[in-house]
Amino acid sequence: MSTSAEERDEPKSPRIENLDRTIAHLDLDAFFVSVELQRRPELKGLPVIVSGTGPRSVVTTASYEARKFGVGSAMPTAKALRLCPEAVVVPPDGAAYKRMSGTVMDLIRHHVPQVEQAGLDEAYADLTGMLAPSAAMRRVVHDIRVETGLHASVGIGPNRLVAKVASDAEKPDGFVFLSQEQARMKFADSSTRLLPGVGPKTRERLERLQIYTVDDLSEASVQELTDEFGGRQGPWLRARARFEDDTPVQTDREAVSESRETTFSVDVEGIAELRERMAPLVLELCKALETHGHSGRTVGIKIRYSDFETHTRARTLDHSVSDRATVGRIASQLLDEFQPSRPVRLLGVRVAGFTGATSKPREQLSLPFG
Ligand SMILES: [Mg+2]
Repeated sequence: MSTSAEERDEPKSPRIENLDRTIAHLDLDAFFVSVELQRRPELKGLPVIVSGTGPRSVVTTASYEARKFGVGSAMPTAKALRLCPEAVVVPPDGAAYKRMSGTVMDLIRHHVPQVEQAGLDEAYADLTGMLAPSAAMRRVVHDIRVETGLHASVGIGPNRLVAKVASDAEKPDGFVFLSQEQARMKFADSSTRLLPGVGPKTRERLERLQIYTVDDLSEASVQELTDEFGGRQGPWLRARARFEDDTPVQTDREAVSESRETTFSVDVEGIAELRERMAPLVLELCKALETHGHSGRTVGIKIRYSDFETHTRARTLDHSVSDRATVGRIASQLLDEFQPSRPVRLLGVRVAGFTGATSKPREQLSLPFG
């Protein structure tokens, strides 16, 4: 196959790129295993596999210690245990992962407005127009770590494809910001399997055409690709290798509520002090409601103890509210009624049930390999 010498020799001097869009992809690191390690800290540092136990079970997630033995997602568990006999097998707990996923998604939405959940452990965010997109995503990662103990990797780029591949490039704890051109250079020598949408079968067919790397594919003849894959998929594959992608980020949830919450650096005890800590949250929330022109019938509070046990309490009124006095009064009442019994790590306040907002049912998410 031919590679274009002119393009290869093009000077790679840095240039100012006019990025029309800024898209981030966030992916939690070894999600299922990490949730399990939160509640089984004695397993930290050990090779751990989350998997069922039947004869045809496959690995859903492996800890990084297990990955060192060559264990990977979707591998039959029997094979994983041959590679790493000392691995601890933990059965999956879908309900726990969904709960944790909800917490993480709320944290992302708290910092960036346009979020599309792409799986239990991953989301895209459209950061176009934000002054400091990297800083916003660093805050998201920080909050996820503080709030949930989970680690996340982030990729930022001009489109979803660059963001997705970048988020995977330096896992765990990756944070990679690339232009389209930088992505092409960085992944030029990688296998075409790196590209989302190129599975093992497609890779085999590409290899029959002597196309092995991302760079090979980006320079392949459109005619040749079209002959092999058809008029749609052929050119599409080449565009993937050039990191071209204009798929939009689709917000999956219309705003139906707004909330403010804070995690204390030192756990807070006692109703009087909690009430005091609630006041600035109410103030901030009501300001935001005013700015966005929102009001809602439900006022709620959220309390998380230091062991991450989380409680919510809410009251629904017969009219919409958004003013500081009413929201503050109801939040205080809820706090009094709840009477936290232990030191509190996180306190939140929320107004929901916005007037005029129709809540769309959330997309059913299936458990990914993650
Ligand atoms: Mg993941």
